[in-house]
Parts: sequence; C-alpha cells; structure tokens
Amino acid sequence: MKAQLKELASIILRSPSIARFVGQRRRIMLVSLCFHRFGDQHDNGDGHDLDELDESLRWLARSGFVFGDASETYRGLARGRFPDRPTVVVTVDDGYADLLSAIPIFSRHGCPVTVFLATDFLDRRAPLWWDQIQLLLSGASGGVSLDDVGGITWSANWDTVADRRRSGEELIELVKRSLEPTRYAVIEALAQISGLPVPAGQLSGYAPLAWDEVRSLEREGVRFGPHTHTHPILSAVDDAGARYEIFTSWSRIREETRYPLPVFAYPDGTPWSYTVRDRLLLQEAGIDVAVTMDARWMLPSAPPIDAYQIGRMAFPLRFADLQLSVLRLGRSLRHRHPSP
Ligand SMILES: [Zn+2]
Repeated sequence: MKAQLKELASIILRSPSIARFVGQRRRIMLVSLCFHRFGDQHDNGDGHDLDELDESLRWLARSGFVFGDASETYRGLARGRFPDRPTVVVTVDDGYADLLSAIPIFSRHGCPVTVFLATDFLDRRAPLWWDQIQLLLSGASGGVSLDDVGGITWSANWDTVADRRRSGEELIELVKRSLEPTRYAVIEALAQISGLPVPAGQLSGYAPLAWDEVRSLEREGVRFGPHTHTHPILSAVDDAGARYEIFTSWSRIREETRYPLPVFAYPDGTPWSYTVRDRLLLQEAGIDVAVTMDARWMLPSAPPIDAYQIGRMAFPLRFADLQLSVLRLGRSLRHRHPSP
C-alpha cells in the first residue's frame, strides 16, 4: 500500500505544472546529494538505474534547481554564504568504476560531479573489503561464524537469502570499526571457512576506477577529493590510524590527479563517525572543507554552518523517493523559516 501511494505521489509530481509549483514554493537553497553505485552489474541491488537517474535530474532542473559545483558551493557555505539560487550538488563516494556509465547522463544535464575516493580501493585494484565479505558469504554453504578474529565474534543467520545478507551487513558494521589488519584477518577467515579464494582482480560490478580513468574524467570536469585510504569509521580508529587514513588518502589524490580537491568526505558520515581529532588532522593536512551524511547540516539555519560538517543526503534509489525527500526537506525549511 505504501509503495502504491508513493508511486501515485510520483506520478502526480512528474507533471510539469506541479514541478514548477514545487520549484516556486520551496525555500530550499541547497540539496547536496551523495551517490555510491550505478547500474545493476553487481547483486547488491543498490545501484542507481540510469533511466531513473536521467528522469530525476530532469525533474530537479524542471523544479527550478541549478546544478552547482561542489567545491565552489561548499567553499561558499564555509564562508557562511548559501547559494543565491536553489542548487543541487552531486557527489559520488568510494570510486567504483560503474560511475563511468553515469557520466554521460550527468553531462547531458550540465551537472558537475565530485568524487570522494577511498584511495586504497584504486591502488589495490580488487573489490572493496565489504564487497569481498559479501561475495565470500554469498558463496559459502552455511554455518559461517567467527570466534574472536581480531576481537570480532559473529555468526551468520542462514535461514533465508535476506537473513544472510543482513548477517553480512552486521559483520560489515563490526569490521568498519577496525583497522586494516583485523579487516583482512576477517576476510581470510571467511575465505577459509567457505573454501573460496579471497575475491581479487577486476570483478565486473565491483571494480574501482583506474587512476587513468580518474585523470580522463578530470579532463571532462569531474573533480576528486579524499575519503580515507581504506575506509574505516574514523571515530573507531586510534590517532595513528586516523592520521594514516587521512594523510595517505590526500597524498595519493595529490600524486595521481591534476586538480586535487581539498574537500574530504567522512566514511559513513553519521554524526558519531568522526571526531574533533579528525577535524584537526584535516586542518593539518590542508583540507578546509569536509562533508557528512547528515541532512540537517544542509539547512540555512542555526547552528551556524560548519565547514567541517557540511551535510549531504543519499540520493534515493527510486525517483519517487527523491521527490518525497526534496519535498520533506522543503517542509522542514519552511518550518524553520516561515514565509514573511
Ligand atoms: Zn564511502
């Protein structure tokens, strides 16, 4: 029923006159969006359908938004300046190669793209550690559990495919909070239990961008900023670990790109995923803006805009959900800023 109502809302919102109404009525000056995956070459079900993406961008433009450049917009925000026109900023996290399939669509709409790279993913040229975990679990025959592997104890619920996936996500949540050695110990243990090799090489749907592709995207106007080296939750790692992650990621971006962007995206991006220590490390590294995944920070309201906590929201997988999210954001802004 909920899905049908959403579909109905989506059909109504697709109408050009409704879109114009939304554009005129809302008080949203900035929607800062975050993507991860595109297309359906992997089995996670979290890739953005390219036709829906095309339609979503068209709807945003029709609703009166302009597509802004992340660097310029975020730097303006850091100085307390909201864009003077309703603006959508598009960012993509991690550095999956499937971004290449979406670039022509963003270009067609004149939408600048900024990518935050987990640089070890590109250096290693193998699936990201969480994809390795899910790939090993999907190939295992059952009864998978870990007993104090680097401090991680976990056992999988193997009843249904959904249970299995959920168990995998629970394990990933635990592993996110550890540094590289624990992470690889877990992956090795899973490979041993399942009798499978650790997924390596350029697996279709799980591959990173190559650094050459990064440089060729730069020539098309795409910009790249750091997102740590191996993508741990910063607040869960020690001082040396956080320093290594931030500085290595930033130096790899500076070594490999022509226009390195000193804007950082916190892995996970939730309010508890980073600390004041991380902000100090970013400042020391010469990075002057950082983005979160906390939509509250997109509102032009108190608390004052903080250059190290600029908010983003995940670009919803479904077009209908995007429309509802944008409307919801507009409502919350009207609540904070009643019309004169
Ligand atoms: Zn990420």
